[in-house]
Amino acid sequence: MNASPPIFVGRSSLWNNPFEGRPKIGAERARILYGYWLPGTLHPYVLRCAGFGHDEIDGLERMRKRVVASFDQLRDQRLICRCGNPRTCHRPILARASEAAQ
Ligand SMILES: [Zn+2]
Repeated sequence: MNASPPIFVGRSSLWNNPFEGRPKIGAERARILYGYWLPGTLHPYVLRCAGFGHDEIDGLERMRKRVVASFDQLRDQRLICRCGNPRTCHRPILARASEAAQ
């Protein structure tokens, strides 16, 4: 049993979903974008179509690399988000990715 405190992965944490709360991107699309973005399979063209500028796209890729590099901090930990919407929450995607990256 893991007794360490849960890790907050919601807004304002390193592990937040950067697509959540963006104008014109609803919660469902934000979750879909996140699912492609996290493993590095989201083409920059999709982001440009969604209104992201070049600097933002570069920033997103830097963030993604930091997140992937931190997977060992998340593995076997309890992750909490507090967005209040289990259907669109990115937490399960993040949890699966960090568990799979051994
Ligand atoms: Zn959430």
